[in-house]
Amino acid sequence: MVRMADCKAACLLVKTGQATYRTPIRQQPWCKEYMRQTVVTTPAGDLPYTVAHRPRVTRRLHLELDASGGLVIVAPKHWSKAHISATLARNPRHIARFLVTARQRLLAPLQYVSGEQHLFLGVAYTLVMAGGPAGRSRVAVVGSGLHVRPTRPGANAVKSALTNWYRREAQSVFSARMQAIAKNAPWTEGRSIPLKLRTMRRTWGNCSSKGIIRLNTHLIKAPLEIVDAVIAHELCHLEEMNHGKAFYALLSGLNPNWRQDRAELRAQGHVYLHT
Ligand SMILES: [Zn+2]
Repeated sequence: MVRMADCKAACLLVKTGQATYRTPIRQQPWCKEYMRQTVVTTPAGDLPYTVAHRPRVTRRLHLELDASGGLVIVAPKHWSKAHISATLARNPRHIARFLVTARQRLLAPLQYVSGEQHLFLGVAYTLVMAGGPAGRSRVAVVGSGLHVRPTRPGANAVKSALTNWYRREAQSVFSARMQAIAKNAPWTEGRSIPLKLRTMRRTWGNCSSKGIIRLNTHLIKAPLEIVDAVIAHELCHLEEMNHGKAFYALLSGLNPNWRQDRAELRAQGHVYLHT
């Protein structure tokens, strides 16, 4: 079912591209077509989208977002639904990358002021400026609040205190989870697995040929099961470096829920990367 808010959002988007339409936007015949959502199953998971046509788009697909972050495929008018679906199914990674970047742009930059919501392990905490003696910056979870005492006034100092705190928490949570998950991964037995953190814009984790696992510091904002899913994925790369059948067989043993976890991370990832 299409809710009115969605319909308005999507129509507005068409309206900005087609400034010449003057009649009430919902009476346009393409409005109905626009909002009919289709789901294509790609090797990287299910991808819901809506289709729009514009007179000037005549040769290739364009990707856009509606105001609520849904994927809009602007396709040449003569392209059939099957052709659009097949084209999307061939380019899942390109679309996933587009969605993360474009959805991030929809979000207003964080202000690092009291009352703002900040994520930690999947929970949104309210930022509270804490008083107290000057000295080192301090961040602590107190009830539903994230209490920050920066070293100096101003949003930059709050941001830097939070960034350092996230990194420290990530180091301790990720190491503990990696040790716990590795117990169920016999191929890691007896080996020490170096873990490094890095702030990345496009990757949640990677595993080098030397067996060093790098995880994205921003992942500490995701729920623990998503953190676990990324760690399980990288641990499997210690045994299988590519994404072949053997890799996914290994991963299914370690995390049977990997498909749902990956879909969740793809849908929410832009929120965790938001700064
Ligand atoms: Zn991988």
